[in-house]
Amino acid sequence: MNGVLNNSVQFIPGVGAKRAQVLEKELGIRTLRDLLYYFPYRYIDRSRIFRIGEIRDESAAYVQIRARVESVQIAGEGPRKRLKVTVTDGSGWAELVWFKGINWIQRQLEINREYIVFGKPSIFNGMLNMVHPELESTLVERDRLRVGVQGMYSTTEKLNSNHISSKVLYGIICNAWQLADKHIPETLPASVLREYGLMGLRDALYHIHFPGGQEQLKAAQTRLKFEELLAIQLNILKLKNYRTTRSKGFIFGVVGEKFNRFYREKLPFPLTGAQKRVIKEIRADVAGGRQMNRLLQGDVGSGKTMVALMSMLIAIDNGYQACIMAPTEILANQHYESFTELLSGLGIRVALLTGSVRNRPRKELLADLEKGDIHILIGTHALIEDRVKFFNLGFVVIDEQHRFGVQQRARLWTKNHYLPHILVMTATPIPRTLAMTLYGDLDVSIIDELPPGRKPIKTLHYYESHRLRMFGFIRDEIAKGRQVYIVYPLIRESEKMDYQNLEEGYVGITQAFPPPQYVTLVVHGKMKQADKDYGMRMFKEGKAHILLATSVIEVGVNVPNATVMVIESAERFGLSQLHQLRGRVGRGGEQSYCILMTSVKLSAESRKRMQAMVATTDGFELSEMDMQLRGPGDLQGTQQSGMAFELKIASLSRDGQILQLARGAAERILEDDPVLAKAENQHLVELCKRYEAEKEIDFSMIS
Ligand code: ADP
Ligand code: MG
Repeated sequence: MNGVLNNSVQFIPGVGAKRAQVLEKELGIRTLRDLLYYFPYRYIDRSRIFRIGEIRDESAAYVQIRARVESVQIAGEGPRKRLKVTVTDGSGWAELVWFKGINWIQRQLEINREYIVFGKPSIFNGMLNMVHPELESTLVERDRLRVGVQGMYSTTEKLNSNHISSKVLYGIICNAWQLADKHIPETLPASVLREYGLMGLRDALYHIHFPGGQEQLKAAQTRLKFEELLAIQLNILKLKNYRTTRSKGFIFGVVGEKFNRFYREKLPFPLTGAQKRVIKEIRADVAGGRQMNRLLQGDVGSGKTMVALMSMLIAIDNGYQACIMAPTEILANQHYESFTELLSGLGIRVALLTGSVRNRPRKELLADLEKGDIHILIGTHALIEDRVKFFNLGFVVIDEQHRFGVQQRARLWTKNHYLPHILVMTATPIPRTLAMTLYGDLDVSIIDELPPGRKPIKTLHYYESHRLRMFGFIRDEIAKGRQVYIVYPLIRESEKMDYQNLEEGYVGITQAFPPPQYVTLVVHGKMKQADKDYGMRMFKEGKAHILLATSVIEVGVNVPNATVMVIESAERFGLSQLHQLRGRVGRGGEQSYCILMTSVKLSAESRKRMQAMVATTDGFELSEMDMQLRGPGDLQGTQQSGMAFELKIASLSRDGQILQLARGAAERILEDDPVLAKAENQHLVELCKRYEAEKEIDFSMIS
């Protein structure tokens, strides 16, 4: 039924075997459908022909003129060699410039002939200039399939070198349309189209490539965004339904001796209201006869670790093992040390498994784990290796989830015959839309309260020229007995990037803070694990004043006596990273500071990021801002968060409303047809398949 759309693009006029190969390799386009779902990234109005004389400034992104070639001339030499073509349309002159493909262009051009010239205008010495414009003879203009608003398609260098420009792609899509037009089956059920007033798929694909006008374009975009978000939501909800109906989960019926003794004898501070509430939510989940999948969001320093620890005690009280996976060894070590201390005397065996645990100790550890002699296993992603086998794993904590991909999350689930309860913790607040997409299958708990007595961190933005002032500031804090982090984006000097680096920073710092009066330590990602641990321990024990580091200390590290976080070349870091780094201070009762050092030359976006950091310490606010600053190109963000596929058209930062509607539609569709078995939903099934994440989990292994 979808026959034609599955055909290879090779048979589209103008493609052929060679180009088909390039299209697949570069853009993943294999079939007619893939091609029709390759949407323009922007649109330009090609119905309008400008007069040269009316283009006075550079405000228009692209313009089109109809002009006659007056002269063709080669200027400059070597890399400066360029082709200069002067054209006129009677209202003025314009200069067209090419630096590449000079010979080819020159051969094509005829003096005195009229061309349609299309490009980005710039005004140079009072004259209109266009660099590498597109040229079309006015004859071809009449043959164009459509004149009007036209899509621009993004291409790659490889495509361009195979002469597949945006314009050529457009031509190919025109040809593809002739083949596909009559054979585009609707993916959405008629009831959904009606209810949400959506454009049909055939029309939507037509107008997304060949929009008749703004209104139709908008309707086409809405429809395709809806389709995309619906498919994703259906997949997420199907997974969730599967878990809740098929997989009962272990029932942790009792809150027993270990939990109670810990609570009475060991707990070093009263829990905050938010911590208590979340522990209650977790208790209700694990006692309730269904497998828990909970996302715990809480800003840096909000005390998520204690929640994890106490939840694990419930598992142990019910005879199960628990584990916690951390993204770095430093963090795993830290958890190990604090857990061992907090749990001492309770008869609970805690073990640490990281890449540094090798040979015999590792063998013994694995054997004990399988026998059930270890109650709590703490580790890095070493935990998900196949050789790690539990006796009866009942509770899994994943710390700082944003650092792990969806797949890693899935692999821990398969560590028992039944799915263990899963608690995913993150301090990187995720905008609601992203959370709904990435973790739409999870229930969410939020710690929205910091432990008492914390003072909000003061954030300052200093330019390079204020370096001495920054040193003075550090000196004062150290004199008060506090400790200081200084974080660098690079370990050593880089030819490509003009940022501060740790090696040079070390020289400068030890000059300004000379030993033995001051002790400065270094920790970075390229160091041996044992050296990193040693450095961290010294700092933690207060044996050093200053810790120079790369972003290895970004997540989780807890040294309450550190009150200053200096971030060098702060413009190099994203908002969520800056916020994480800042979260390393302000963990004790003292006033803490974050100093953002940047060069004076800042892009508008970097400046906004610094302003945002200075203005707020609210991680949720920052994450929304982050999304907005990144704009529709938030792909990077989603990839970092472990999203396994790219959104083709919807934007999680802009299309929250459509996402809500799609979520509602998905819920209703599944209510009516839980496994999408009905005939009218079969096209939906196909659609969903296209948006499946990498195989998230192989259920046959567990049930
Ligand atoms: P995060 O949520 O960023 O993982 P942590 O769990 O590392 O935060 O906690 C940060 C610090 O706050 C730790 O030093 C921890 O001991 C402390 N802490 C946690 N809960 C409380 C509380 N209820 N009262 C006082 N201090 C607390
Ligand atoms: Mg933490």
